[in-house]
Amino acid sequence: MSEDTLFSKIVRGEIPAGIVHQDDLVTAFRDIAPQAPTHILVVPNRVIPTADDVTPDDEAVVGRMVRVAGELARAEGIAQDGYRLIMNCRDHGGQEVYHLHLH
Ligand code: 5GP
Repeated sequence: MSEDTLFSKIVRGEIPAGIVHQDDLVTAFRDIAPQAPTHILVVPNRVIPTADDVTPDDEAVVGRMVRVAGELARAEGIAQDGYRLIMNCRDHGGQEVYHLHLH
C-alpha cells in the first residue's frame, strides 16, 4: 500500500528509531548512519514520495518540516553556528528512501 515505506513504519512506531519530534503532520528521528555530529531526518507522516511530488495541498506539511528542523537545530545547540538542510530527489539526486525527508 502507498503508506508502506520504511519511514512510514518508523512514523507508526513499527520500526525502532530515535524519534526526537512527532506532531500531527511530521516526524523527526535520528539518521541510522549519521553523516554529521547531528543528523536528523524530518519526514511527513503521510507519504509524499519525492520533492517532485509535492502539491499545493502539501504546502503546510512541507513548511512544518522546515520549521521543525529549525526548532530541532535550536534544541540541539547548532542553530547559532549554522547547519545544512538537504532534500535529495530521485535517482540522480541520490534519494534512497522514496518518502520525502529533510536531512
Ligand atoms: P536519502 O539517500 O534517501 O536522501 O536518505 C536516506 C537516509 O535514510 C540515509 O541517510 C540513511 O542513513 C537513512 N536511513 C535508511 N534506513 C534507515 C533506518 O532504518 N532508520 C533510520 N533512522 N535511518 C535510516
